[in-house]
Amino acid sequence: MEWLAGSGLIWIEGRFLGIEWHVWKVVGWVGNAIFFSRFIVQWYATERQRRVVVPQAFWWLSLTGSLILLSYALQKRDSVFIAGQAFSWIPYLRNLWIHRRNKSFQITCPACSRNSPSDYRHCPECGKMLSGASDKESVLSKGH
Ligand SMILES: [Zn+2]
Repeated sequence: MEWLAGSGLIWIEGRFLGIEWHVWKVVGWVGNAIFFSRFIVQWYATERQRRVVVPQAFWWLSLTGSLILLSYALQKRDSVFIAGQAFSWIPYLRNLWIHRRNKSFQITCPACSRNSPSDYRHCPECGKMLSGASDKESVLSKGH
């Protein structure tokens, strides 16, 4: 790293990586980093489950990243950037809400602890009868 610094490739006239740093620049890059990290989270979850999944963390990172980028864009008064971020949080919030709702409608298999939608009669993983299904339905029908 020393030779890089010495050659001026990293520090150029007081600029780190050629970028002039100030508070909002840091905010913008933090937003970028959070926004980018969601892809890593989603990729990891997909690899682990060996099917395409979008974990809840993906939407939280999207929401947080886009709000930080929006605040940066507003501060910069860049209309293109503001327009790009102004409404993107709406689908993120919507997806988080759907995730939350789905979770409350799930039953956990007593044998393999896999989560299934509450209308499933049998576990898709091990085929065990999901006894909680009828209980939950009666609770839900009483509640509505
Ligand atoms: Zn099971």
